[in-house]
Amino acid sequence: MKAVRFFGHKDVRVVNDIEKPVPKGDEVLLKIGGAGVCHSDLHIIDEGTVVGTVFTLGHENAGWIEEIGENVEGYKKGDAVLVYGPWGCGHCKPCQQSKENYCDHQSEQAYGGGLGLDGGMSEYMLVPSSRLLVPIFDLDPVIAAPLTDAALTPYSAIKRSLPKLMADEYVVVIGVGGLGHVALQILREISGAEIIACDVTEDKLAFAKELGAAYAINSKDADVAEQIQKITGIKKAKVVLDFVGSTSTIDLGTKVVSLDGDLTIVGLGGGHYQYSMNGLPFGVSMTNPYWGSRTELMEVVGLARQKKIHIEIEKHKLDDANEVYERMRQGKIKGRAVLIP
Ligand SMILES: [Zn+2]
Ligand SMILES: [Zn+2]
Repeated sequence: MKAVRFFGHKDVRVVNDIEKPVPKGDEVLLKIGGAGVCHSDLHIIDEGTVVGTVFTLGHENAGWIEEIGENVEGYKKGDAVLVYGPWGCGHCKPCQQSKENYCDHQSEQAYGGGLGLDGGMSEYMLVPSSRLLVPIFDLDPVIAAPLTDAALTPYSAIKRSLPKLMADEYVVVIGVGGLGHVALQILREISGAEIIACDVTEDKLAFAKELGAAYAINSKDADVAEQIQKITGIKKAKVVLDFVGSTSTIDLGTKVVSLDGDLTIVGLGGGHYQYSMNGLPFGVSMTNPYWGSRTELMEVVGLARQKKIHIEIEKHKLDDANEVYERMRQGKIKGRAVLIP
């Protein structure tokens, strides 16, 4: 079968000679409907964050059950499912709580399809356990694939701050890209806080307003922090969600977050932050969440089935993987690209 394989630093090839796996025990074989193309893939490809192993890329996967191992119950051929991305040990306390994104054993094992093990940029994908599947019922797997990361990650980041996102508060969203544009919709649907969006391109700012932002500010402006404070007044923003994670966006977050607020850095922009006692308002929680839990992914599916969130996607063939990655390097993808076998 055809697959998009990672062979090492900047070496991605589309091959045709991969054998179709046969599921055993609790394993499940999926016929892939769509595999989302993610910025984290570029960290693997361009920076070699996963080394010494050849594997199929794609960690945002959805499809239909093709075949089940002899121990699998509750699924049958043709069921439409998402693959939960972060594969934990399945046994430790975080895993028992469905938070496999924070599995105790994360540092000592290969961690998910497309992240060291074979992922979904392929005609078929072997999932090690039915525990890692989330049913999507009537949703189309092609459209639903990016929910597993592009929606789950912002959803989990927002949910942890939900008690602070009341109607008399402000939330700042920095970066209206693949994750940020979904974050705006989730905030619109599950929180009461007034939304201030920041980005460096005017079309993304206009897009942010369509998705529920009350204010959209160009963060290229030298006085962006002052512009935000003019809106929030002395109380500042109770929650800041940074989907860029560069030194300049983290710096902006520290300037606009309120006392006892949350400064949540989701983007993998490689930024630095130097702590100083007077650099951050008292009581601020600064956090770098990673992905989300399995039960949160079920909640995300609920939002999508109710049509409360919508991910902009562009569809491409597996053969076009390298071109799509190149366009992603140049920041030319609007929303999410999905590869379809
Ligand atoms: Zn991803
Ligand atoms: Zn675990």
